[in-house]
Amino acid sequence: MEESRLPETHEILKNTVREFVSRKVAPVAAAMDENDEFPVDLFREMGKMGLLGITIPEEFGGSGMDYLAQAIVTEEIAYESASLALSYAAHSNLCLDNLYRNGSREIREKFVPKLCSGEWIGSLAMTEPGSGSDALAMKSHAVKENGRYYLDGSKTLITNAPYSDLFLTYARTDDGHSAFAVLATDPGFSRGNKFSKMGMRGSPTGTIFFDRIELDHSRILGKIGDGKHIMLSGLNSERIILAFLFIGVARKALDTALKYSMERKQSGRHLYEFQLIEEKLAYMYVRYRTSRLISQDALAKVEADPLDSLSAASAVLHASESAEYIAREAIQIHGGYGYVKDFGVERLLRDAILGQIGGGTTEIRKHLISTALVKSYKRDGVIPE
Ligand SMILES: Cc1cc2nc3c(=O)[nH]c(=O)nc-3n(C[C@H](O)[C@H](O)[C@H](O)COP(=O)(O)OP(=O)(O)OC[C@H]3O[C@@H](n4cnc5c(N)ncnc54)[C@H](O)[C@@H]3O)c2cc1C
Repeated sequence: MEESRLPETHEILKNTVREFVSRKVAPVAAAMDENDEFPVDLFREMGKMGLLGITIPEEFGGSGMDYLAQAIVTEEIAYESASLALSYAAHSNLCLDNLYRNGSREIREKFVPKLCSGEWIGSLAMTEPGSGSDALAMKSHAVKENGRYYLDGSKTLITNAPYSDLFLTYARTDDGHSAFAVLATDPGFSRGNKFSKMGMRGSPTGTIFFDRIELDHSRILGKIGDGKHIMLSGLNSERIILAFLFIGVARKALDTALKYSMERKQSGRHLYEFQLIEEKLAYMYVRYRTSRLISQDALAKVEADPLDSLSAASAVLHASESAEYIAREAIQIHGGYGYVKDFGVERLLRDAILGQIGGGTTEIRKHLISTALVKSYKRDGVIPE
């Protein structure tokens, strides 16, 4: 995050998290990837530090900060471990922040504090085997009988699913789509196996099943039928937080490549002195900087208007494509060592690729941007700033 522009409280937060990440996350990041192991204790420690409930008011166990703070935490963790940052973002933003914003007093009092402290782990459960990009085509459904809802169906590719205690779950209801808080202890809930992935290893991803799970009114977010609105209200802050996750990956890749280009000599010259390497460093830097600037701009715009998809989708499109580009170039600058696991650069590329798939694909983001752009241009006759 821009050093000179942060408010003092956020500067202190950044330094605290940076110190924690270098002391606790950096030493385990490679092993998390290699063994595909989620560090549960470390995650719970983040709860004790107040990082998990960063956007939640103190009254409900959180730290009472804003999305800028959440973006800072996500980027700092991602600098050392994109996979831990992904699990963090899924828990703290996709699940907890939305659960708090739309949850009843009962949900806020019973579940939110547990997710803030790290006693519980949370997930957002939207994607299904038959519906990903077209999320609203989901088949999971909750039927009303005698004043209660009975949920059937399944969700897949869910971050943290193998460990989560609470799932912010979307399902069809008579009135359209609705959002429910589903607990892993609910009778009729079960989990499938954890997926083995090319990247983001250590961030557990899995499938869950619902077999006639009984849900009373206290488990409904908002009102029955509010699901689409609840989903849309959270998507733009999710996009921004993901953009900062991939800025963290890009910063690590550029940092690593710069250092290596200054250490390594070939034909009597440092790598950074070769014109073709200079070109790489220049483009890597420009893409890193533009990712940060467009994401900071989008963050401010989404704070003012949570439905500003044009800004949020533009930020995550650019930041995720740039992270993949920068990570690939960092490997090239490392030559053969870039291809070797010990140097840690190849992990950055494997992790960066998720940026164009998770939380909505690049193709869907392009569609959203183009649709919003055309609509705005038709209305105002000028390119939106
Ligand atoms: C590591 C990981 C973590 C994830 N975590 C979560 C999570 O926590 N919660 C959750 O709910 N989901 C999660 N997902 C799911 C993720 O959001 C979906 O994978 C993503 O939205 C794409 O859906 P899909 O995989 O079904 O692909 P599909 O929708 O089947 O798309 C396949 C291809 O077709 C393209 N395509 C589809 N529709 C269109 C269109 N209309 N126009 C142009 N191209 C199109 C896509 O862009 C893509 O290239 C996760 C996925 C991964 C890999």
